[in-house]
Amino acid sequence: MSEHVIDQYMDQLAANIAAVRANIEHAAERAHRSPDEITLIAVSKTKPVEMVQAAYQLGMTDFGENRVQEALPKLEAFHPQGLRWHMIGHVQTNKANKVAVSFDSVHSVDSLHLAQALERHAASQERRLPVLLQINVAEEASKEGMTQQEAPELARQIAQLPHLAIQGLMTIAPIAHDLEEVRPVFRALRELRDQLRDMLPDCSWDQLSMGMTDDYTVAIEEGATMVRIGRAIFGERPQKELEKK
Ligand SMILES: *Cc1c(COP(=O)(O)O)cnc(C)c1O
Repeated sequence: MSEHVIDQYMDQLAANIAAVRANIEHAAERAHRSPDEITLIAVSKTKPVEMVQAAYQLGMTDFGENRVQEALPKLEAFHPQGLRWHMIGHVQTNKANKVAVSFDSVHSVDSLHLAQALERHAASQERRLPVLLQINVAEEASKEGMTQQEAPELARQIAQLPHLAIQGLMTIAPIAHDLEEVRPVFRALRELRDQLRDMLPDCSWDQLSMGMTDDYTVAIEEGATMVRIGRAIFGERPQKELEKK
């Protein structure tokens, strides 16, 4: 991207970020929560690293990517102190090494097998990797994630891995025409989190990563502490068919 294009883009980007932040504040107010409890993650998938740099200049510190191969060049090009890269998409076990080395956290731990692979590579890096367990609350066939029924036993096993630090849960809600349809999904994730916290009090269960462009205000009303926003910040993604949800 040329400097000129970036300059023009900055104004739009600043307006988008301000609008999202205002919506976050209002949703938090409705739920009698502090907006400071909510981390805004800018999802930069399909967007060039220059857009990430522009958003960083505007104060964004947390970025999300859903594909390892696409993300790695961006992480290598831009990872200043204080910027956190979140892996939010499905991770194949054979890419666990790269994820454990490069990302600051992984929201999409969906199996014991993946957790064990991340554990091995985090151990060889001598680091403790923050992770969230991805739950397929609505049990959609198209989505990754453990079911609510599977979660307690998997959480118990993953909690024993010394180089992973469980921080909470993540979910992707189904696409809905009426936002009230997704509220029970977010509520169920919070309730599952409360149940796991009682069961495994030695882990931190503070984080609920839930809410995207179309549904983040409802997610915040239901307790989200991390919202993952792509389109409302960076604009529409043109090549929809190239994306893997
Ligand atoms: C793409 C993606 C997002 C962001 O989606 P938007 O609708 O653009 O806000 C959030 N979470 C995950 C897991 C994604 O893949």
